[in-house]
Amino acid sequence: MKRPLSILFASSEARPLVKTGGLADVSGALPPALRDIGLDCRLLVPGYRSVLSGVANPREVARFSQLPGYGEVRLLEAAMPDSGITVYVLDYPWHYLREGGPYQDATGKDYPDSAWRFALLSRVAALLAGPNSPLDWPPDILHCHDWQTGLAPAYLRFNGGGAPSVMTIHNLAYQGIFPPDMVEPLGLPASSFSVEGVEYYGNFSFLKAGLFYADWITTVSPSYALEIQQDPMGMGMQGLLAQRNGQLTGILNGIDTADWNPSSDLHLPCEFSQKAPSGKKRCKQALQKELGLEPLADAPLFGIISRLTHQKGLDWTLLNARQIVEQGGQIVLLGTGDPALETAFRDLAASQPGKVAAVIGYDEGLSHRIEAASDFFLMPSRFEPCGLNQMYSQRYGALPIVHATGGLKDTVQDGETGFVFTEPSPFGLGQAIQRAFALYADKKAMRRMISAAMAKDYSWEGSAQAYRALYEILAAGR
Ligand code: ADP
Repeated sequence: MKRPLSILFASSEARPLVKTGGLADVSGALPPALRDIGLDCRLLVPGYRSVLSGVANPREVARFSQLPGYGEVRLLEAAMPDSGITVYVLDYPWHYLREGGPYQDATGKDYPDSAWRFALLSRVAALLAGPNSPLDWPPDILHCHDWQTGLAPAYLRFNGGGAPSVMTIHNLAYQGIFPPDMVEPLGLPASSFSVEGVEYYGNFSFLKAGLFYADWITTVSPSYALEIQQDPMGMGMQGLLAQRNGQLTGILNGIDTADWNPSSDLHLPCEFSQKAPSGKKRCKQALQKELGLEPLADAPLFGIISRLTHQKGLDWTLLNARQIVEQGGQIVLLGTGDPALETAFRDLAASQPGKVAAVIGYDEGLSHRIEAASDFFLMPSRFEPCGLNQMYSQRYGALPIVHATGGLKDTVQDGETGFVFTEPSPFGLGQAIQRAFALYADKKAMRRMISAAMAKDYSWEGSAQAYRALYEILAAGR
């Protein structure tokens, strides 16, 4: 029997073990979707505290004691908690077993040694995909995700080759920039520090390394794949990306449709579906009570779940908040991030009691309840490689109001399943909000749009097929 195509996913996050954003959702969900269509996909992740405590019965399968700059590193094998996908865990407590998150300490400060931490992840990924792998599982493809694994294609290039590599950009804003004098200590030749290599405007960029040396580049939506070949979305990488556009594909992310299913979601006080939508009203009532909002069934509820960063256009939302409230709407925000935005939303909620609720923090259950309760979902990102919440929103009948960019543009149909505005400004968003209020007043039209949004299919299967087609081409050309 033919051996299934084998793919090693190297990622710094994977749900449910460790998550700060959409990357974790993708690394958690795409491998099982690939398995469902016949591929053998395995993960490699760092052994953070939550990873080591989240996997059952890890067993040691290799030890590396010769990696320059590192002590003894153990490689453990375990199964992912939900999917059972094989996961290799890089056990190196010195770099990974910390109190804070994957990138920052408990006070929100970046770890000073992240270059070493993620160079190690990249190095081991390249090793497992190369001729000297200690495993009896040679992957056909090494699939790297974001800057944290960007050095892997470079290590493959300079350390004897191996499987073809794919570099996926989940967000070009994070480029893994370090000083040039790190190039050689991290095991790359001095000659690689050039425009034709890992240099990025005088610095050393892990992402640039991946984009330059990988055999193929993908990103998470077709629109973003086009946008990043130009200024300003290319964020300095546009020249290289335009030059490589023959090896650059946009493949839309899917969502975990089992986890995000309003008809079986255990986080919700009441289930509902496209065919039986009435439970959504009860979800709204329950959330209003939970967060101290006035119990008004007819007040249009605008939900926001977001990392609080400039990217997400939350400043535009703040400038429209008073207008929403004056027109009888309510707002609920769940998010964490930039302290100035956290304060602004806290202040807004304090000044509008019963009308605006701001929960500063990370709460998965609440994120589901907000999607279920909201009539509209605000996501006016300045740029958005793919975005997941606008897909969850449609599935939960919360009509998304989004800026026409990247994956938002590719997944929301203006006037059919939500609202898409083109002018990147508070005014552009305000106009879309007015259209939402007008729709809300027309109950029949509102019901129709909710039904259309809820009927959309965002399962991973389509994306998995697209990745398989790409892997097959690369493996055949080996
Ligand atoms: P990004 O990766 O840029 O943060 P995405 O929309 O692709 O944006 O993915 C964000 C993911 O993180 C979604 O699954 C979203 O529900 C989740 N999320 C973001 N902030 C929070 C929060 N404060 N609490 C719970 N989930 C959150």
